[in-house]
Amino acid sequence: MTATGRQCGDCTLCCKVMAIEELAKPANTWCPHCKPGRGCRIYPGRPMECRSFSCVWLANELLEEHWKPSRSKLVLTTSEDGLEVRCDPGFPDAWRKVPFCNELREWAISGETLDMTVVVIAGQRMTLVTPEREFDLGIVGPDERIVRELEDGKVVNVTLAKASDLER
Ligand code: SF4
Ligand code: SF4
Repeated sequence: MTATGRQCGDCTLCCKVMAIEELAKPANTWCPHCKPGRGCRIYPGRPMECRSFSCVWLANELLEEHWKPSRSKLVLTTSEDGLEVRCDPGFPDAWRKVPFCNELREWAISGETLDMTVVVIAGQRMTLVTPEREFDLGIVGPDERIVRELEDGKVVNVTLAKASDLER
């Protein structure tokens, strides 16, 4: 049980969409220890990454019930830049459905003043959602970062840069 009183129940979607370094499990493939829709076969001995993981739906009751990942086909997490929305690879357009697309746009609008981004990840492709439009970023490597070009506080262009180049 979590602070929100919510439980994963029949949801196991993070065991598919998230990469688990300790298991060398890539994103978007089922973990070999998962019984989809049932749970983790090695629950007491699961890796630390799994123990410390909560999706936003599980941890934050502000996210309404329809966002439950097993229903929405979307797993929401936060990053230092903002919100990341991972689609079940079997439903890469889940985020375009109502009401999800509308709520993502609303969050992009409210995030703009806080400099928080909304990024959708479907397979290997990433899309940045801004109040005005979407930027298809294509395949973003693990060592790449999204660089936004702003004019009057609005995103007008987006490029990708190597993280190591940005640190120089
Ligand atoms: S995606 Fe969220 S609700 Fe679903 S199993 Fe993972 S933590 Fe639980
Ligand atoms: S070890 Fe268990 S909790 Fe972790 S990804 Fe695999 S099935 Fe999910």
